[in-house]
Order: sequence, then structure tokens, then C-alpha cells
Amino acid sequence: MKGCSSLPPETASQLPPTDSAHRFDLLRTPMIGPFLQWRKSRMTLQALVFIVSVIMAAHAFWGPQLAPKNLGALLTWVHFRGLVVLAVLLAGNFFCMACPFMLPREIARKFFTPRWNWPRRLRNKYPAIALFVGVLFAYELFDLWGDPWWTGVLIVAYFAAALAVDAVFRRASFCKYVCPVGQFNFLGSTMSPLEVAVRDPDTCTRCSTKDCIRGRRFDVEYERPSTANADALPIIQRGCELALFQPRKVGNLDCTFCLDCVYACPHDNVGLLARLPGETLAEGRSRSGIGSLNDRSDWTVLIIVFVFGALLNAFAMTSPVYVVEQTIAQYTGLTVEWPILGMLFFAVLIVEPFVLLAAAAVCARLASKRTDTVWSIINRFTRSLVPLGFGVWLAHYGFHFFTGALTVVPVTQHAARSLVGWSVLGAPQWQLGGLPESVVYPIELGFLGLGLLGSLLVAWRLAADFAPLRTLQAFAPWACLNTVLFASACWILTQPMDMRGTFLGG
Ligand code: SF4
Ligand code: SF4
Repeated sequence: MKGCSSLPPETASQLPPTDSAHRFDLLRTPMIGPFLQWRKSRMTLQALVFIVSVIMAAHAFWGPQLAPKNLGALLTWVHFRGLVVLAVLLAGNFFCMACPFMLPREIARKFFTPRWNWPRRLRNKYPAIALFVGVLFAYELFDLWGDPWWTGVLIVAYFAAALAVDAVFRRASFCKYVCPVGQFNFLGSTMSPLEVAVRDPDTCTRCSTKDCIRGRRFDVEYERPSTANADALPIIQRGCELALFQPRKVGNLDCTFCLDCVYACPHDNVGLLARLPGETLAEGRSRSGIGSLNDRSDWTVLIIVFVFGALLNAFAMTSPVYVVEQTIAQYTGLTVEWPILGMLFFAVLIVEPFVLLAAAAVCARLASKRTDTVWSIINRFTRSLVPLGFGVWLAHYGFHFFTGALTVVPVTQHAARSLVGWSVLGAPQWQLGGLPESVVYPIELGFLGLGLLGSLLVAWRLAADFAPLRTLQAFAPWACLNTVLFASACWILTQPMDMRGTFLGG
């Protein structure tokens, strides 16, 4: 396996000024720090989650086909999703760090080496965006939250897809270009308080090997080989497979927290450092492995799906969506669900964002007296929606997690008895549930409120950069848009839950 074969064009002398010396560093804390610095820590975490995934898949296929009593459905749609967003909120992209889908790939790569590079035309986020929308659509169409068997199929398909892509293509192609969960985590982790970053930029300036991206070819215990033969040596620790050159890396986008750069750096100069959540969303400068977000339309489309998909996914669990679908069915005469759902997705993921973002961009353009194109303004300001979008995901997934956190106990007890005949865990305690909805509702509102606050702050920073002399005028339309989306999310939270699925049956 290889790290990056060529360095990015940036040089360490172009490093942005940062004050890393006084930042909290998780890798320097007792116990957690030494564990994460241990090179087998990622594989250990992956193995644990892999074992849980195998149990989930087995129970999904051979356990009771009633979702609340099935580990595959329950853990996937209640606990896994809730824990992912909470981990991202409180720390960082620790799901990608412990990703079980990468374990078979790591083992397989010990026996063969992929030979192809990911196709140049697909080196963007569009493949992952298509899969992201596809998973959202399948989730609603097949009522995946209530179908253990199809949930099991999804788990197995995910493992197979990750293995197939990375068996053919070099480096972390699946993570960077294909995985919809990864893209979700990348965007969510812009709101995390930790990032993988250099401790001392001056050390990078003096560093001659750039092992954090090239990969390390010698053991630091021994003398460095001469530069003449260094490139001929095998790589003993790969560098960043996602093409993020540490000194030019900005924030958590595209970072899987794999810590390969930590292990590769011969100067112990990479840490898990504290950073203000959301701060990097306002930055337009070029990022290693990504470029400037101001020029990346694929990232803008991904953010649109992330934000409006959050609203759609939450809305689809409420009673009003039933009315909307019935209305569409009556007007169109359709009697099957998929085209009706397709119209709903088209309206919420394409028409609504197009109208709202274009309106905000046109207003910002007129008010700030700038001459930029409408799309370039959308490209620049859509990032301000990320904190609010993440707040909606948090509120939605947090609701399911907090109200059902303890349900895993009786379902595990039942599974142990029915699958392998273990009674050591005791009789299933079916009365266990979670926090009452009256307690969870204020927490949900808190997530949304924090999201709105973050979005307004990011919008203000973007507006100040876009129109220094007319910041308020450029900011106002995006503040209005974020407030409208916040109000619609609050409205969704107040709606009664209603599981769809049989509405056309009669
Ligand atoms: S290998 Fe370490 S010191 Fe060198 S550029 Fe990378 S992070 Fe900086
Ligand atoms: S920068 Fe690259 S190598 Fe370092 S943790 Fe992130 S993805 Fe892994």
C-alpha cells in the first residue's frame, strides 16, 4: 500500500498562521492519547464494531422480523445513527475511525494490491451524492426502519461495495468518492470540536520528507537512508490516502480520523487538536485535497442534500407527509408509491433549494452591489446552512436515540436466548425504554437553536468576506433563509409521528 506518490503543489512556506501550541490535544491526554497513538487502535475499534455488525446482520436475517425486537433494525436506525451524530457533535469523526466496512478491505489488501486510480471524471462528490439520495429514497420507499431483512441486506451490501471499490481502486477511493455515510460524517464533523492538525507549523516548514502524505519508508529507530535510495524502500507506514497534506489541511472535510498521518510523521507533529466548531466553514482559502469550497459545486450540491435531506427525512416520519402523498395520489391518479415519493423528493431536494437559494443569492447580490454570478454566490453561502442542517439531523436522530436508548437491553437479552440459547443475560426487560418525549423535546429545540446560531455566525463571516463594506446587506438574505428553515424544522418537530407504508393499500 502506498501513500501519496506526489506532493500537492503547496509548500510548507505557504502555511497559514495558526497558534497550535495552546490548543487542547486529545492525543496528549492520559489513557485515550496513548491508546489512539497505538497503531493497532484503529483496527481494534474496527474489529469491535465489525463483530457487532455481524451480529446485527445475523439477527436481521434470522431474528424476529419485528423491527423493535430485532438487533439489526434497532441498532442501525436508533442507536447507531444517534451515537454517530452525538460523537461528531462532542468529539469528531470517530465513526469513520472505527468504520467496520474498512476492516475486510484492510485484511484483503494484505494479500493483493489494487492497480487502478479512481477515474478522473469521477473525482468529485457526485457519485456519493447519488448514493446519498438513493439511500434516503430507499429508506422511505421500503420503510427500512421497520424492515429487519432489508436492513440486513443494506448492511451486507455496504460491506460488499466497500470491498469491491477498494479492491479495484488505489488509496481510499470508497471513503473519498463513494461512501454516503462518510460524506455525512465529513459535513457533520465541520461542527466538531476536534480536528487532525499539525502541532507546530514551523516544524513542517523544516520537514524535508513530508511523510504525513508520502508515507514513511524508514524506521525512526534507525538511521535515515540516503535520499538516493529512499524512494526505493518499501513504505512501512502509509501517509494520507485521502490526499490531505497536513500543513495545508483545513478542518475535517474528507478526513476519516484514520490517524495514518499521526503514525507517519517522523516529528510527532500531528495531533487531535481543539478548534471552534463551524469555524472552517467560513474559510474560502484553498484546502489540501479539496481546493477552495467557493469553486466546488459538488460540495454545494452535497450540502444541499445534507440540509434539505435532513428536513425531508424528519418530515417523512410525521403525519402531514401522509396527507401530502394522498393529495398527490388523488391529483395524479397514481396508485403506487415510488413515483409519488419521487415527486416529493424532487420538490424538496431540487425545486425548494433552487428557489430559496437563488432568491437569497439574488437579494444578496443586489443589496451588496456585487457583480458575481448567482451560482458563485450560492456556492459561497450555502455552507452557512450546514450548522442548521446538522442541528436537524441531531434533533431527529437524537429523538429516536434518547427515547429508545435502553431498548437495546431487552432485545439483546431476547436475541441471546433465541439465537444461541444463552439465558445468562436474564429474562428480557421489555419495560426498558428511554427518556420521555417531554424531556427530549427541549433537547431537540436546543440542537436546532444551536444550529441556527452557528449558521448565522458562519453567514456573517462569509458576508464580511464577500462584501466588507456592505456586510449587513449581504448577510440579511441568508439570515432570513436560515431562519425560515429553522422555523420549518421547529414545525416538523411539533407534528405527530406517523409511520407510512400502507397508505395506498386501501
Ligand atoms: S511529516 Fe510531519 S512535520 Fe513533515 S510536513 Fe507532515 S506533519 Fe509536518
Ligand atoms: S488527514 Fe488523512 S491520514 Fe490524517 S487522519 Fe485525516 S484522513 Fe487520516
